[in-house]
Amino acid sequence: MPNVEVYCTVSNCHYWADANHCAAEKILVTTDEIGEIYPETVDASETRQIVNQHGPTEAHGCVETCCKTFTAKKQPPAGTPKRMGTGTAATGWKQ
Ligand code: SF4
Repeated sequence: MPNVEVYCTVSNCHYWADANHCAAEKILVTTDEIGEIYPETVDASETRQIVNQHGPTEAHGCVETCCKTFTAKKQPPAGTPKRMGTGTAATGWKQ
């Protein structure tokens, strides 16, 4: 298996980790077109099924690709006071 270090800036993803790393065990990157066809629950485990149904997919640039593994972080319960933090917390940007 390839050992790939994935950097990501999508700060509201459940898998987003320190130093802008992706902490997911595996991810599925696909075209926006495929990403829009399948529900959120379809992920890397269904890659073979997707390829069997659609064949290899092509993108003409990075703007036509997406991370299908993205899972939004759970929102705090309504009424939870927002933390007033540093610029890092406010922007969600980690360096
Ligand atoms: S799952 Fe995708 S969107 Fe989420 S941190 Fe990893 S690469 Fe980024």
